[in-house]
Amino acid sequence: GAAGTGQDGQEQAGSSPGMHRVLSLDVTLAPRDPRAPGQFGQPVAVPADKQEEAKSRWKEGNFNVYLSDLIPVDRAIPDTRPAGCSEQQVHDDLPSTSIIMCFVDEVWSTLLRSVHSVLGRSPPHLVQEIILVDDFSTKEYLKEQLDTYMSRFPKVKVLHLRERHGLIRARLAGAEVATGAVLTFLDSHVECNVGWLEPLLDRIRLRRTKVACPVIEVISDKDMSYMTVDNFQRGIFTWPMNFGWKQIPQEVIEKNKIKETDIIRCPVMAGGLFSIEKKYFSELGMYDPGLDVWGGENMEISFKVWMCGGEIEIVPCSRVGHIFRNDNPYSFPKDRVRTVERNLARVAEVWLDEYKELFYGHAPQLLRGGAAVGELGPQRGLRRRLRCRTFRWYLRNVYPDLPAPLARASGLLVNEALAGCIAVEGTTLAFEECDVNSTHQQFNYTWLRLVQHGELCLAPAGVLGAVGLRRCQAGSRSLGWLHGALATGHPGLVSDAAALPCQGGHSAGGH
Ligand code: UDP
Ligand code: MN
Repeated sequence: GAAGTGQDGQEQAGSSPGMHRVLSLDVTLAPRDPRAPGQFGQPVAVPADKQEEAKSRWKEGNFNVYLSDLIPVDRAIPDTRPAGCSEQQVHDDLPSTSIIMCFVDEVWSTLLRSVHSVLGRSPPHLVQEIILVDDFSTKEYLKEQLDTYMSRFPKVKVLHLRERHGLIRARLAGAEVATGAVLTFLDSHVECNVGWLEPLLDRIRLRRTKVACPVIEVISDKDMSYMTVDNFQRGIFTWPMNFGWKQIPQEVIEKNKIKETDIIRCPVMAGGLFSIEKKYFSELGMYDPGLDVWGGENMEISFKVWMCGGEIEIVPCSRVGHIFRNDNPYSFPKDRVRTVERNLARVAEVWLDEYKELFYGHAPQLLRGGAAVGELGPQRGLRRRLRCRTFRWYLRNVYPDLPAPLARASGLLVNEALAGCIAVEGTTLAFEECDVNSTHQQFNYTWLRLVQHGELCLAPAGVLGAVGLRRCQAGSRSLGWLHGALATGHPGLVSDAAALPCQGGHSAGGH
């Protein structure tokens, strides 16, 4: 497709009209001090007599802050782009972008290196501005000292928020003041690589509803080296909405002759680094403003983009390094786990339709928080107004390899000793000879642990020991049943002898 533009022996003949070879601007091609530590992305070792100091400074950022401070803020890094990227053609009339970096208590040298990497490796005419959003940091150096330092770069603006917004709302605050046609979000501990920006903007130039993500490379939290990552990675999620990376299988790559430079369409994006047209972002309602602090917003924007007519793409020729770390170095206004879970439950309630059962079924502790997700009306209204597609459509068309059966199991309820099965007759139960073809004997075991036949669910009835049918009610604990085979590891039939009503609901349901 379009990803192969300029790859077919045409590059020697010069540029197509209206296009040019991607610019290789990099002010660090001849670094000021080639022998400085960390230069060219090389690993750095902490000297023996500095081990204690390095150790004690680790928690300032949950990475090797001591080494970061040693490394030049404008160090060179290796050009890690796949072969062919530097010859690729992009349009002359690319939109300009505002670059938005939110931070709370970011390490000084790391923040500066992020900004210098943008200034040093982006075509100036495409950078409308760099907006640094200080999310109410507590560190003194992130106030006047930062303003003073950045005042020498006319394009860099610092926005000091007057209360802690959290990443999600801090990004919205940055977007509000941005004047570029495109918004490019970056974390505050990144290093943009040569040629990173034009390929992103070129995708949006091609179609305004494309959301373009760079390949996120790794800046080691331990030795600060710049490392490339495997190609052909897609952003995916597993239940209950855990983000992850998944390699495209080798046979798929071969069968479809996928090249290293080809665009990769992703079911979900990692969240931290991406470009989106400003007006399109605004049409999508930006982020759900009901999401708190951090987490789950990548799921929300991903579902919203795909289901409402857009696309999410990884652009292999755009590469940005990021310091991955084990824990957030800043405090959460509320409990971290609870915050993320609540955000995810909001996303499920707005976007997953009937598939939210899978989400809750994989995280039963979230069902109880039902009331705490907040007002959903405006988000559901937005989804209707935008005429977005269903989650079923998303699964079929965007992420068909996600296992998402609506029922956890389906089949017969067999009493093995008596070789009989439970059947539904009208609104009552019967006990009959088993017949796999009888629709009356078919039950679904749902993710919310109901034993369901159409609208009716198996329920304890009247006298103790009797079972009957009741209208199903998702989330009803008295209708929940544990599958005996869950303990033995053989999912399948819900056996009469082994199925027990959930005692105490969720404590039993967790296993
Ligand atoms: N951030 C922020 N306010 C918050 C939490 C995070 O501005 O309340 C910033 C943070 O400084 C970073 C970005 O948001 O630049 C993403 O956060 P982080 O790097 O901790 O997420 P991760 O990359 O670990 O997923
Ligand atoms: Mn980060």
